[in-house]
Amino acid sequence: MSATVKVSVIGTGYVGLVAAACFAEHGHEVLCQDIDSTRIETLRAGKVPIYEPGLEDLVVRNHRDGRLRFCLDPAEAAQHGELVFLAVGTPRAENGAPDLRQVFAAARGLAPHLRPGTIVVDKSTVPVGTADQVAAQLREAGAAEVFVASNPEFLKEGSAVDDFMKPDRVVIGADEPKTAERLRALYASFFRASERIYTMSVRSAELTKYAANAYLATRISFINDIANLCEKVGANVEEVRAGMGADTRIGHHFLYPGVGYGGSCFPKDTRALVHTAHEHGASLRIVEAADDVNRDQKGRLFEKLAARFAREGLAHKRVAVWGLAFKPNTDDVREAPALTVVRSLIDAGAEVHVCDPVAAGNFMRALDPPAGSVTVHEDPYAALRGADALLLLTEWRQYRSPHWGRLRELMRGRVLLDGRNQWSRNTAETMGFDYDGIGR
Ligand code: NAD
Repeated sequence: MSATVKVSVIGTGYVGLVAAACFAEHGHEVLCQDIDSTRIETLRAGKVPIYEPGLEDLVVRNHRDGRLRFCLDPAEAAQHGELVFLAVGTPRAENGAPDLRQVFAAARGLAPHLRPGTIVVDKSTVPVGTADQVAAQLREAGAAEVFVASNPEFLKEGSAVDDFMKPDRVVIGADEPKTAERLRALYASFFRASERIYTMSVRSAELTKYAANAYLATRISFINDIANLCEKVGANVEEVRAGMGADTRIGHHFLYPGVGYGGSCFPKDTRALVHTAHEHGASLRIVEAADDVNRDQKGRLFEKLAARFAREGLAHKRVAVWGLAFKPNTDDVREAPALTVVRSLIDAGAEVHVCDPVAAGNFMRALDPPAGSVTVHEDPYAALRGADALLLLTEWRQYRSPHWGRLRELMRGRVLLDGRNQWSRNTAETMGFDYDGIGR
């Protein structure tokens, strides 16, 4: 039987805010804490600081009904929650290891105020052994009798609310049966037909998250490698992919060739896992290779463009870019291939005209381009005026069926580089474009 639980969530980013809103939607009393006062004020005012489909409705409704509250004071969050989730950032440090400073700072801030028996849950993606370190930091900073568990998050940006509400599985790492049971009870209502909750040791749970992300990243790099071979041997990767994926042992997911993976997870998590392996005297050659292939892949579309303008060069060429987010339905541009591509374009002296349904603001902040080198357009067709080439970098739905007549009318040149294999070569060529995709 499930009952209302008092939950605190530390960090109100993509993971923290989604988790908090979904727990509240399931009837729990949720208090979110963040150190970013603008973010907390925005949330208290009934607005959502990030773009994630369906999130605003959940946040606004649950906040209005009093099940979801926001605060700045860690003491308040520590005293509220029977379960306190840490969902702060774990960005990549210089050496590839995750930077755990936000996690430890959050733990230390909570420690003196936690009630005995509280369960602190690492939801951030953290390397094996972090729960032990969090427990040590909590004790050092004055916490008495608290338990530390791991509950890695598998949601995908762009469908985060749906993923959280209907999870494929929930992984709970707990070294005491009572802790595991309290977390299981919190999640039980998320499953109707069959409960897919996997309870395991803390260390296994910590590693499960990295292993899953590294495997998915490897599939993407694998198909990108095959795509590059297809170009050399005259095969079409779209046909190869369909033929491969039809095998139920393989499946179609994460076998889409493109301009490389980005986002806040795959790049940092693959490197973090490799770093963990090295620390323990092991090597993860497949994951290292996936990361290398991805780095090269992010440069592929620019190489194709440069080859097309080899004679005259790209200086003063006008290049339009559709799509900046690392994938559709998100405003997240962390490690987005668009950052790599647009930096190369700027270095080559091109005039860049970009657009994205929601990510342009974050993109310009992350890129910080020299004045006048990059112009943002709201209308994708306005970005095309006088363009010598168009690059598709994110497969947003609104870019998938272009108005070919308008493209012809507005563009000066005819080069179309489809970094996501969304457009038909046949149609593009019939309309007189010089089309190229990835591996087809
Ligand atoms: P994010 O950067 O969007 O949000 C982190 C939040 O934590 C920010 O609002 C920040 O102000 C806050 N914060 C930082 N230090 C704090 C402190 N000491 N006390 C309170 N708040 C603090 O991060 P995110 O994308 O939500 O990711 C969080 C964790 O979840 C990371 O470890 C990430 O790897 C993991 N993860 C992310 C995703 C994803 O798709 N974004 C998916 C699964 C797991």
